[in-house]
Amino acid sequence: MFTAADTQTRHDKHGCYPEATTVEDFRRNLSRVQARIAAACHRAGRDPADVRLLPVSKTKPEASLRLAYAAGCRMLGENKVQEAHRKWEAMQDLTDLRWSVIGHLQTNKAKLVARFAAEFQALDSLRLAEALDRRLQIEGRSLDVFVQVNTSGEASKYGLSPEDVPAFVQALPAFCALRVRGLMTLALFSSDAERVRQCFIRLRQLRAQLRQSAPAGIALDELSMGMSGDFEIAVEEGATVVRVGQAIFGARPMPDSHYWPGEPSADGSRP
Ligand SMILES: *Cc1c(COP(=O)(O)O)cnc(C)c1O
Repeated sequence: MFTAADTQTRHDKHGCYPEATTVEDFRRNLSRVQARIAAACHRAGRDPADVRLLPVSKTKPEASLRLAYAAGCRMLGENKVQEAHRKWEAMQDLTDLRWSVIGHLQTNKAKLVARFAAEFQALDSLRLAEALDRRLQIEGRSLDVFVQVNTSGEASKYGLSPEDVPAFVQALPAFCALRVRGLMTLALFSSDAERVRQCFIRLRQLRAQLRQSAPAGIALDELSMGMSGDFEIAVEEGATVVRVGQAIFGARPMPDSHYWPGEPSADGSRP
């Protein structure tokens, strides 16, 4: 679709994002990120209105989340369900604040997600789909979901391998409480922009392939891809949702691998 050999990753910026401590900091950071999204859209001939910015608040304290809310954020992304649930409980007064769980979920925690989340971006097994659907029926709720795809081939990343996605998607209409919105991926964490771009291209091509055969009611419009270090490349390649934490909230003290939940084999969710 597009090649912009000069768009680089910013993974080398790790730790360089200053902490946002005022509403003005959040407003400024949000508008800078939006401007970079708009510029990437312009390069790719896309409409910026087709890209949703999901601010990611993981590890940040409630006070920061409240500042982000005051700056206009109405949905926040969290990668660990207990942390997200705790924050949701503490911030019940903000009745129009919605939560997106973006990290791997163990089946036994489906109950928590079903209780409060508006969106879940890391669906990667039928067992989990079943558990979520059952709990959602009990709660009388429904949930927007994204199927997580491992586009980098790294064993340390969660998600279905691209070959397994078509059959997986065929099985999803059975789960009435899940509204399937599209695909999500984490690209290779690398300063090699071309290799990062290949992950995003792979996700877009997979969506095109799935659209030929997707069951009725499965929309697959969304591509959630790109984070602080690589969202401009993702937007050039068709992202409709970018998940951005550090460029809005400020750096996290530890490298990302520290926050991504344990090894995939830990709960047997991967063969
Ligand atoms: C933390 C996280 C992000 C955002 O990363 P930043 O570097 O803070 O922008 C995006 N997606 C997932 C799944 C994450 O866990």
